Amino acid sequence: MRAAVYHGPRDLRLESVPEPEAGPGDVKLRVLYNGICGSDLHEYYDGPVTTRTTPHPLTGVKNPVILGHELCGEVVAVGEGVEDMPLGCLVAVDPLESCGHCVWCKDGQYPHCPQVALHGYNRQGGLAEYTVVRRDMAHRLPPGMTAQQGALIEPLAVAFNTANRCGLEAGQTVAIHGAGPIGIGVCLTLKRRGVNVIVIDPSPLRRSVVERLGARWTLDPTDCDPVAAVRDLTGGRGAHASVDAAGAPSAFRAALHGTRVDGTAVVVAIHHVPIVIPPFEMLMPEVYVTGVAMSAHAFPSVIAEMALGSYPQDGWVETIPFEALVERGLERLKRQEGLKILVDVGTPTAKH
Ligand SMILES: [Zn+2]
Ligand SMILES: [Zn+2]
Repeated sequence: MRAAVYHGPRDLRLESVPEPEAGPGDVKLRVLYNGICGSDLHEYYDGPVTTRTTPHPLTGVKNPVILGHELCGEVVAVGEGVEDMPLGCLVAVDPLESCGHCVWCKDGQYPHCPQVALHGYNRQGGLAEYTVVRRDMAHRLPPGMTAQQGALIEPLAVAFNTANRCGLEAGQTVAIHGAGPIGIGVCLTLKRRGVNVIVIDPSPLRRSVVERLGARWTLDPTDCDPVAAVRDLTGGRGAHASVDAAGAPSAFRAALHGTRVDGTAVVVAIHHVPIVIPPFEMLMPEVYVTGVAMSAHAFPSVIAEMALGSYPQDGWVETIPFEALVERGLERLKRQEGLKILVDVGTPTAKH
């Protein structure tokens, strides 16, 4: 089968590799769409970051490895013991695979498992004609949902968890720094809950996308002081919660200072350099700063929200052919062109 195999930085090859088979408890999928994530970009240009050059403790997988962790596929085979996954149904995949018996796993906090593995980094991933996942990682999509929508469930699950971490009620205000796919997902999720959304992003394209999707205010941080502007929009107090979905030190500081006392600042972006905060800047705002452990547990809620129409895709989702993965996918995203790019990996055999 055809697969996008990561050999190291700037070395991603479309190769012919053996087709995987479903072992006991597994589900084998024909991949239809696989989204490209910011972390794939980081792996491609600056890796290895999440992939490994030594065997992963849980999976034994090391490079070269097939990338791809935001995927929707059609069930084509199931392993021994899997009885509740009909052939032909569409599933979205939660890419986290954990050991199942440590304290974190027992408490249901599987992203914190010391052995946690990520599909598409520590397992052969979804940028391939076929991939195999454990049954509990496969979430069935309801009839009528498309494979493109299915491939958006994973990043939207990260956004959904971020929205929950904000702890907001209808009528309150959030300031979202960064209007990439995660920022857009947080905007849509919170707007749906009646929260007023301020989005801060230097890109006119991204600001116009979130304006169309329902952000109440957008700000250009190159054109104004975003902290002062957020305070102006919130009676001088700052937002009830802020989200750093940008990953720039300036965005984190603006999130911290643009949040009111006792508010929450949620970091969902991956920062590539340490964030340096002068001590008094950390001490005085009296803001709760937290992170987000990926997509954990959010899949059923996001699939239900998607079915209700909470996540319109106009203006921010596009598809490219598999062969164009590097040129029209990774390289364009690196230049900040495009928002969510889904790779068209295969054609469904069944009718959905
Ligand atoms: Zn991702
Ligand atoms: Zn564990």
